[in-house]
Amino acid sequence: MRSKVIFLEERRVVSFVRKYLEEKNCDAIIVSSWQNVYYCSGFTGYGDALLLITKDKKFIVTDSRYYVQAEKQSGDYTLVKSGAWSLKAMTDVLQQENVKKLVYEDLSVLHTMYVNYFEKLGTELIGAGDTFLKARTVKTPEEIAKVEAACDLASAALERTFKYIKAGVTEIELAARLEYEMRLAGADKPSFDTIIASGVRGSMPHGTASDKVIEKGDGVTIDFGAFYNGMCSDMTRTVFVGEPSAEMRKIYEVVKEAQQTAIDGYKPGMKGKDLDKLARDVIDEAGYGEYFGHSLGHGVGIDVHEGVSVSPGSEQLLEKGMIFSVEPGIYVPGLGGVRIEDLVTIGDNGKLRMITKAPVKDLLVF
Ligand code: ZN
Ligand code: ZN
Repeated sequence: MRSKVIFLEERRVVSFVRKYLEEKNCDAIIVSSWQNVYYCSGFTGYGDALLLITKDKKFIVTDSRYYVQAEKQSGDYTLVKSGAWSLKAMTDVLQQENVKKLVYEDLSVLHTMYVNYFEKLGTELIGAGDTFLKARTVKTPEEIAKVEAACDLASAALERTFKYIKAGVTEIELAARLEYEMRLAGADKPSFDTIIASGVRGSMPHGTASDKVIEKGDGVTIDFGAFYNGMCSDMTRTVFVGEPSAEMRKIYEVVKEAQQTAIDGYKPGMKGKDLDKLARDVIDEAGYGEYFGHSLGHGVGIDVHEGVSVSPGSEQLLEKGMIFSVEPGIYVPGLGGVRIEDLVTIGDNGKLRMITKAPVKDLLVF
């Protein structure tokens, strides 16, 4: 179903694109990445349509698999029926519209496509750079609500999966169960390959689910998300099957404290590196600094990693409308790992507001 909200967002996005064209004194932009095609038009045939936005017209170029869908989802665009050759159809529209100066997505267009297509068009070419990414970094209230809905769906799916977490189950079985629960609840797909890292595999921050059997005493790090209504969620919980060792218990408490310290300590005007430091200091002081190698957080939206960097070197100002993760972790080779991750945004009161509303943060033993 296509809501009025999406149409409103599109109008905002298209007017931003047109303002950009005016500033750069360009005639048109070709939108080619699936993320920005969706962002501008609401079209969900990911990867199978191109947009052309001129100063006063909007075209969507796609093939016969998507004619009905494009008319339904992007009815405010003129549909260009391309047959199998969408680039040829696009060239015809460029000529028809007399485009002399063209913006293209230089951050995502493949070099081969640039050489074989764009360079041969005979138009002046301008790279869009990070223009779209910057726009997507600061969300509207509607976009925040969509991410929140994806988080709610994922949290509920995790709770329904808890009863399957036990010794004897493989990581892949657990990932399949979790993804099944998300799909049943309406998710389009997982927002990335589900990470399930148990026991010593927990020391790999991005260990995707393997055929390892979960054993008694294992910590199980579950990092997953739902892609729902065009937006991603992203969260991590580490739970235990059987009593954890004293050291793993300690590590869990340090990670939990690091996350809470960052969430409570945010103040308006902070940069990415300032928030990162709040959590990192807790882990450093506990003596595990060398085992926290990644950033504290990243932006989330249409892509699971977009726009915001909460890392030791980040000079980026954390602004209202941004959604980002707060995900400290400690990974000790040969022992295991713990990560806790939630999404936050900056609330009206100038404090971080939780987007993830998953219930448990206390150490869970199954
Ligand atoms: Zn994650
Ligand atoms: Zn993340």
